[in-house]
Amino acid sequence: MFALADCNNFFASCERVFRPDLEGRPVIVLSNNDGCAVARSNEAKALGIKIGEPLFKIRDIVERNGVAVFSSNYALYGDMSRRVQEVLRDFAPAVEQYSIDESFLDLRGLAVEDLAAYARRIAAVCRKMTGIPLSVGVAPTKTLAKIASKLCKKYPKLEGGCYMHRPEDIEKVLRKFPVEDVWGIGRRSVRKLAQMGVVTAWDYTRLKEYDVRKIFALPGWRTWRELRGEPCIGFEDMVEPRQTICVSRSFAKEITDMTDLCSQTATFAESAAAKLRKQDSLALEMAVFAMTNRFHEDEPQAFSSRLTVFPDGTDDYRTVVVAAAEVTRAMFSRRYGYKKAGVIFTRVASREGFTRSLFRDADADMREARLSEALDGIAASYGRGAVLFGVQGDGSVKMSQEYQSPHYSTLWSDIPKVKIG
Ligand SMILES: [Mg+2]
Repeated sequence: MFALADCNNFFASCERVFRPDLEGRPVIVLSNNDGCAVARSNEAKALGIKIGEPLFKIRDIVERNGVAVFSSNYALYGDMSRRVQEVLRDFAPAVEQYSIDESFLDLRGLAVEDLAAYARRIAAVCRKMTGIPLSVGVAPTKTLAKIASKLCKKYPKLEGGCYMHRPEDIEKVLRKFPVEDVWGIGRRSVRKLAQMGVVTAWDYTRLKEYDVRKIFALPGWRTWRELRGEPCIGFEDMVEPRQTICVSRSFAKEITDMTDLCSQTATFAESAAAKLRKQDSLALEMAVFAMTNRFHEDEPQAFSSRLTVFPDGTDDYRTVVVAAAEVTRAMFSRRYGYKKAGVIFTRVASREGFTRSLFRDADADMREARLSEALDGIAASYGRGAVLFGVQGDGSVKMSQEYQSPHYSTLWSDIPKVKIG
């Protein structure tokens, strides 16, 4: 059996942990630059606030109903996610984090008699230890576990735990479950499925195996088998290293100063390199881009980008940071106000099995590797941004975050104070 543990309304729930006064009140969290709602508490959903809705469009609802509005606070969410992971690890021999608020648990070989009670207990313990409400779905395959966890959200009576295993129960659920909400069914397949008259997940399982393989190829076939209760998405299959890595942001205010823009792209390059190193890969190519605000039609527009090639591959912080700053200087023009920039490693190779040129300077390589390792070590103990390259400036990204909550759990200065007596 597999379990999927999904945090309910994760960002909104994180904000509530340290603000118990918000219990029962509508809460929304905004995207970067306070653009639109990216997370909503149940109360906010009930008010009809849609995901992705811009703040200016819902100002009315927000004011009339006293909706608590937060800028995103990823330091807080990342830390809460880590705490949830810690709790989950006590319940299963293997835990695989799928996204910031979702993890799969491998329950195979676990001697538990009542899996429904076990799922409820995971949710209850997580709530108690971290304050975050969870939905835990348990089923014979990962795809079915995802569906089971959605049932928890729909039916509060389940108390956060749903064990879905009897074929007749699975059929009943799949008959009502829209096929486009099934994990692994891509948006492109949905149109094809509609043409074939496939509306529910159950309809999909009734297709002929031969047709599924022919029309939806291997991934669609895998989903088909998973829905029919045959596990075929294993625990390691999911962690394929990414083939491209991108870090980009829109800025709160347009950037018109070259040094400022360089500090931004250098910082993006540094965080992209951190991701690269985490998955043990090398970058062979790096694109740096900067663009103006396309909504300001009356102002001069530009989309500039530069490609840097690393023929021998690199995962060295200094190399990519320096290169990013250099090309930014080369493409910067004072004519423009830059609204967005980013760094993309457009070609990535696994470090293992990659042969570097024979004529490299081994000593220089060693020094490079040591410096980057030292930087990783410092980041692990003191957080990212504890040490910066000069070109990064203060290392902050110029986003607007008017409504951000304090860093309750990651900054000493923001730790909640308790008055006793
Ligand atoms: Mg969630």
